[in-house]
Amino acid sequence: MHEMSVVESLVKLVEKYANNKKVSKIVVKVGKLSGIEPYFLKECFEVFKENTICSEAKMEIVEIEKKIFCEDCKKEFEIRGFDFRCPNCKSENTKLIAGNELYIEYIEIKE
Ligand SMILES: [Zn+2]
Repeated sequence: MHEMSVVESLVKLVEKYANNKKVSKIVVKVGKLSGIEPYFLKECFEVFKENTICSEAKMEIVEIEKKIFCEDCKKEFEIRGFDFRCPNCKSENTKLIAGNELYIEYIEIKE
């Protein structure tokens, strides 16, 4: 399962930054195009966190919508489906500027 290896590297990162202190919360940003299913990511985290510094931590996931930039209108648009044309001028001259994210926004250390 892809999510499991993602969780493994997230926890490793957290261990690096938390300096052996217990972590109470991890906030992860997940883009809609990252290929990660937030539900599975949480499930995997619950299993994996045992016996790590994250054992008492909660994972919070912030989903990021897909966003494109239209080179013709010079505007940004949030898109829902898989139509990457500009919703305004129908141009195909667009680029993806958000939606591929997968990173830790912040971690909270237990007092
Ligand atoms: Zn446009």
